[in-house]
Amino acid sequence: MDVEVQIPEGLLNKIVNAGIKMYPKEYGGFLIGFYSEDFKILHITETILPSEYRNSKYSFERSAKGIKGELKRLYSLNPKQYYVGEWHTHPDNSTQFSMTDLNAMIEITEYKTVGISNPTLMILSINKSGLNDFEFYVYNDKKLLRYE
Ligand SMILES: [Zn+2]
Repeated sequence: MDVEVQIPEGLLNKIVNAGIKMYPKEYGGFLIGFYSEDFKILHITETILPSEYRNSKYSFERSAKGIKGELKRLYSLNPKQYYVGEWHTHPDNSTQFSMTDLNAMIEITEYKTVGISNPTLMILSINKSGLNDFEFYVYNDKKLLRYE
């Protein structure tokens, strides 16, 4: 994919810290942001943490409960930003997505509350004290493609 993702260091730290708190279970949330006018750069501006979720060492499932209100609040602060995708951690594991992750993204594109056709998936490989690595994928036509 010919798209660059930019995430401010402070926001990345916020996401990593939220993930480490849940170690050794997976954890995740919603990604908020916007694309540049030429669609070449995706700017991640904020994360929303889910109000309800289920997680284990190898799974994370969030509910979209309350997300509409949160999105409205962020939109009122900056009308450019909207829901662009999801993030979750892989504790002591790689940034490679699983079949479950792919299926979850397929469901998201079919889900009306926060559905978009090309959501981004950010996977963070973490350990108990920090970040190992992170990777961005974009969903298109039942596939997850790695951002360059
Ligand atoms: Zn995963």
